[in-house]
Amino acid sequence: MSRSIENPVHLLLPRSAYIHVPFCVHRCGYCDFTLVAGKDHLIDDYLTTLELELNDRRAWGEFADQKQRIPLDTLYFGGGTPTHLSPDELQRLFKIVFKYFDLADDAEFTVEANPVDLTDDKIAVLTEVGVNRISLGVQAFEKSALDILERDHTHETIIDGMNRLQRRIDNVSLDLIFAIPGQSLDQWRSTLSEAVALAPTHLSTYCLTFEKGTSFHTRLQQGNLREADDDLQRDMYAEVMDFLPAHGYSQYEISSFAKPGCRSQHNQVYWSGRGYFGFGPGAARYLNGVRETNHRGVSSWLKNVSAGESGTADREQLSDKDRAHERLILGLRQIDGINIEQFSQETGYTLSELTGTATNKLIAAGHLERQDTTLRLTKEGRFFADSVTLELM
Ligand code: SF4
Repeated sequence: MSRSIENPVHLLLPRSAYIHVPFCVHRCGYCDFTLVAGKDHLIDDYLTTLELELNDRRAWGEFADQKQRIPLDTLYFGGGTPTHLSPDELQRLFKIVFKYFDLADDAEFTVEANPVDLTDDKIAVLTEVGVNRISLGVQAFEKSALDILERDHTHETIIDGMNRLQRRIDNVSLDLIFAIPGQSLDQWRSTLSEAVALAPTHLSTYCLTFEKGTSFHTRLQQGNLREADDDLQRDMYAEVMDFLPAHGYSQYEISSFAKPGCRSQHNQVYWSGRGYFGFGPGAARYLNGVRETNHRGVSSWLKNVSAGESGTADREQLSDKDRAHERLILGLRQIDGINIEQFSQETGYTLSELTGTATNKLIAAGHLERQDTTLRLTKEGRFFADSVTLELM
């Protein structure tokens, strides 16, 4: 039986879209994203197939009858490396996508980029089409760390690219990685200082993980790579949470820090339970309470969609309870937490119905705190966000 829910945001026509661009020069050792490396001859097929998928009404779920271009508040091109495409290929990509979508006046339009790709001609293509936010994969500044991560840029490339970029686009987010094998706490501090000196509007910082299937995971198993110990990981995360707010970047999510007014609008759509469109290999979409994920293999996505089959590999109709759990987990990963009354109105579930005694136990353990109608992670709880999530499921 369905719960009575106020403002069911997941049923609204989505105003956000994600496009996955699965090309890189080389697969970095820690990366498990959907992509192909060194296969640029597939770019033409990819663009043709992306257009086929955009034209396939199955990929639009309940919104397949929309006749007009859909106006978007957020549009995000991720990868892979979207800026690995040449200027002509980028122009073709944007032309295809804008046959189906339009941007609202104050829309956030983000493209992920790598420092080596920030040439003037590519930046010109991005600005001409209206890109107003870049998410730049910096990860580290020191040569030793960049070498371990197998990144193809240098300190100089980053500085040079940022200078070019900030002349045309001022909303730039930097991605950084900490707990890189061999990285000391002092090196991480100097990475943060260098990042802040570049005056980005936003920073995302991630602890290095060793995902199954990556060469880093294999090397870890073989003893050829050493993971930073737990204490160092903790000290590094503690350093971010002190250093960035002290420099004007407030933390608004476990990994995300922003100058005032510069939070990622697109990511906040994911975290708030609103729907979004998704196209390209491995892309996820959330339409009318149904979550779908496309084939993660680039070749299987190409094969299926070009043969007239759906690009979707997995489909899950979320129950009211699943949706409520998801809202809770994603809500608590945001530093502002959740408003308990609003949560119940919007999901149809009270916290005790959903989590039993787990919430109170986590409050007693000092990982969650409740103030009036707000429930959120404590600062200590942010170190344990993943286990808090598991206990609430
Ligand atoms: S550049 Fe980014 S997306 Fe490409 S392989 Fe490296 S980490 Fe993965």
